[in-house]
Amino acid sequence: MNTHKSIFDKCYAFTEAEDARATGLYPFFKPISRSAGSKVYVHGRELLMLGSNNYLGLANDPRLVEAARIATEKFGTSCSGSRFMNGTLDLHEELEARLASFVGKEDALCFSTGYQSNLGSISALLNRGDHVIVDKYDHASIMDGVFLAEGLKHNINLHRYNHNNLKELEKELARIPLEEPKLIVVDGVFSMEGDIVPLPEVKALADKYHAGIYLDEAHAIGVVGRNGRGTCEHFGGDFSLADIIMCTFSKSFGSLGGFVAGDRKVIDYIRHAARPLMFSASMPPANIAAASRALDIMQNEPELIHKLQRNARLLIDGFTAAGFNTGTTETPIVPLVIGDNEKTFLLWKALYEGGIYVNPVISPAVPPQRSLLRISCMAVHEESELSQAIDLISDEARKLGII
Ligand code: PMP
Repeated sequence: MNTHKSIFDKCYAFTEAEDARATGLYPFFKPISRSAGSKVYVHGRELLMLGSNNYLGLANDPRLVEAARIATEKFGTSCSGSRFMNGTLDLHEELEARLASFVGKEDALCFSTGYQSNLGSISALLNRGDHVIVDKYDHASIMDGVFLAEGLKHNINLHRYNHNNLKELEKELARIPLEEPKLIVVDGVFSMEGDIVPLPEVKALADKYHAGIYLDEAHAIGVVGRNGRGTCEHFGGDFSLADIIMCTFSKSFGSLGGFVAGDRKVIDYIRHAARPLMFSASMPPANIAAASRALDIMQNEPELIHKLQRNARLLIDGFTAAGFNTGTTETPIVPLVIGDNEKTFLLWKALYEGGIYVNPVISPAVPPQRSLLRISCMAVHEESELSQAIDLISDEARKLGII
């Protein structure tokens, strides 16, 4: 009898996705066939998009489309190589200089995705014996950066503290010998809960225990602060509150890619040590040009950012008044915390059928008892669209006994 095990056995034994598809409670990988402003079209039906990270609506802005077209005509559709070799364009360097100054740092470096920005920068910065201290709600790409460092160099000391719990953060810092190198890595705006890190307090602890701060601004730049310059601006505009500022272009910038910014020497080190930068093709011309045009718009049209901030307030107030648990969000990311996976999927299905696109989020993206619908608004939403959506979502949630 042949008893050997195949590496693929686990794939044939995996039935969860098929089972969920059969019940109709499968919200993932839905193909969008067209996007326009606040609307998307799926299987021929129009849906109000309340689940995108296109916060400023710039991914559909004709000015970005035109910038991408011009760059493509000039440079082609791919850089066909890594930044290290033939994949650096003058467009990359121009954008990096502008980004550095936008976030108050000496230099910046672009990666092909936000995910790679964290993977590359964090794995480059951590060496054997170094300490990294993370919030348990930090984005997966931050953890993967730590895991890559561990796989490459071993003996990385990982410390995790409960979300935004400064007492626990201090306890972890105090456990580490003062002279050993340490890096605190936090999201500026947390991706599933929409709340903002208490950065000045984290900075005070970092100074006390001689730690560096790496701030992931994926959901903060273009979103918080009077001029959309992110969490440091939100707390008064002192950009030395973080040593490294990271951001992605796939959200408010309406493109794809990401960057880290910091002291010139630190960025140059990352440039020469980050494997996801060195061994992957660079950001394509269309994406750099679109991100660059988005930066122009953020700098010249702060009213777009203010509209987004007003829409966020409308959503938060509306859902809270309706009786939802929205956590402590202050941003366009509004979690409707449900706690039960089945109810979360049932509400998602009712909304999908009722013409609203939202994202259900379950473990491991959130802790097991904290499944939620992640609602996110954009600057291109009309107030009336949001008010009607709040009413519809509340009606469906009431039918399911959620509120
Ligand atoms: N950091 C955070 C906080 C994120 O939410 C995300 C994406 N969801 C990323 C990094 C990765 O960015 P990207 O999707 O652009 O690769």
